[in-house]
Amino acid sequence: MQEPNFETFTFPNGTIDACYLNVTLGVPCRQGSVSVIGVDARTVNDIQAAVKFAAEHNLRLAVKNTGHDFFGRSDARGSFVIWTHHMKNVTMHQSFQLTAAPSNETYDFALTVEAGVQWHDAYSAADASERTIVGGVTAGGSVGAAGGWPAGGGHSALTPTFGLGVDNILEMTMVTANGTFLTANTRVNPDLFWALRGGGGGTYGIVTSITYRTHPRVPVIGAFFSVGANASQPTASLLAAFTELVRITPNLTDAGWGGYTDVVPAFLGAGAVSFDITYIIPNVSWAAANATIQPYFDFVSALAANSSGDAAPMAGSFAFTKQYTSFFDWYMQTIDETGGVGANLELGSWLLPRTTLEGNPQGVAETVLETIAGYYLVAGGAASRVDPDAAGINPAWRKAAVHTIGGTTWAEGTTANEINALRAALNDRNARLRALAPESGAYFNEASPFEPDFKQAFFGSHYDRLRAIKKAYDPQVLFIVTEGVASDEWDSTLNCRV
Ligand SMILES: Cc1cc2nc3c(=O)[nH]c(=O)nc-3n(C[C@H](O)[C@H](O)[C@H](O)COP(=O)(O)OP(=O)(O)OC[C@H]3O[C@@H](n4cnc5c(N)ncnc54)[C@H](O)[C@@H]3O)c2cc1C
Repeated sequence: MQEPNFETFTFPNGTIDACYLNVTLGVPCRQGSVSVIGVDARTVNDIQAAVKFAAEHNLRLAVKNTGHDFFGRSDARGSFVIWTHHMKNVTMHQSFQLTAAPSNETYDFALTVEAGVQWHDAYSAADASERTIVGGVTAGGSVGAAGGWPAGGGHSALTPTFGLGVDNILEMTMVTANGTFLTANTRVNPDLFWALRGGGGGTYGIVTSITYRTHPRVPVIGAFFSVGANASQPTASLLAAFTELVRITPNLTDAGWGGYTDVVPAFLGAGAVSFDITYIIPNVSWAAANATIQPYFDFVSALAANSSGDAAPMAGSFAFTKQYTSFFDWYMQTIDETGGVGANLELGSWLLPRTTLEGNPQGVAETVLETIAGYYLVAGGAASRVDPDAAGINPAWRKAAVHTIGGTTWAEGTTANEINALRAALNDRNARLRALAPESGAYFNEASPFEPDFKQAFFGSHYDRLRAIKKAYDPQVLFIVTEGVASDEWDSTLNCRV
């Protein structure tokens, strides 16, 4: 797993079963939650045989691709795993004919990725045909392109321009709980196609391939900016700077700006609070890009120039814009090739609607600067222009302008009690985010594994329909994941029905 805490297992008495990377702790290596046996699948046939085997023997089944899941949903203590990582075929179709569609309904340059393909492979393939594909932004492009990312929704810095991952899927193939291989799109198996786009990974069957639409390769302008103050609480100027960012966020995403605001909040800053932005906008002129972002840079520069009366003056680098030949070019130059692996991490997050940002910008800014690490412009714009019921994804995404996210971390060897205390503090911070827009929701793939009302938070009004589709295709509940559809019908280990 990307986060080794999801390879550990904690017994009710607080004993942790694990195989720590830090061998100097002298703790014997134990199995924890790592699956005990499984299939390294190479073909659809392998997956069909493995699914039938798991069903026949009533095994606790885990489906694993990259192991990036933030809830540890791709392993489980004592489980049999089907591993898709080596299913790496990528096919660029000059003209893609949707199954069961009229022959004149074709899509130029659609890209089919098999279950184990990762974003770096998909980006390279799209770029080789001078196309852009909407995908995850991660060190080394390591997130899977056809596993959990699309199953949970799939956000990107390109989302405000081209929509979410699920908005770009044309067709999928999959193996169901009884081993049947089928195709799903808007015409064949449309119910499954609806559920697979945002209704959660590891829940309806095993996806074996996804065909995405791609977009023309266009130039991209990147904007970078950082600002901070040596103060243990947000200063007046920092708060004003972030409040203004919140106020203009819906306009930025409407214009097509997307990307990441990384915050060092007050509780983490150890005497400093700061934030920086890494945003992009595709296919606009310098003049158009500047018209939307430069007034903000000027606003913050003026605030900084007048911040000497604050507890600490605000300083930073107030604007840096650069043109790239494409999203892929930006991605290759900006995102690290490696990183982020091997640290214990648990998340909390909440989607903030544009009405919340417009109605309470200062409240949002205060909460963000005091509690979280990420204020991501990976919603809004094109994602909000899609019919909320067009796919199974939580309708909260269609009203959201921003995905806010925080986390907690700990060293290996930390006791269960200490981890629970960190978790409780994270839950308190997350409750502050939730209170800003209780009617909204959270992103299934990057959230707390302890959401108090996971059905509402992750699926909203789509839950009952998703549950009915699952019942039709997986009546015995072979596929089950933490806080996924039907998980409340099982105990906390997901081994026994309640
Ligand atoms: C470093 C990092 C960066 C990230 N960046 C982004 C980002 O930019 N945008 C974003 O939206 N998310 C991002 N995420 C979150 C990411 O979308 C989720 O972690 C996602 O679940 C990963 O999917 P995976 O298939 O790679 O991982 P896995 O852990 O292997 O699988 C995740 C879930 O999907 C299920 N699954 C996997 N393959 C299949 C399949 N073929 N059929 C059915 N179910 C399957 C698994 O059972 C599990 O429940 C990031 C995560 C990390 C760790």
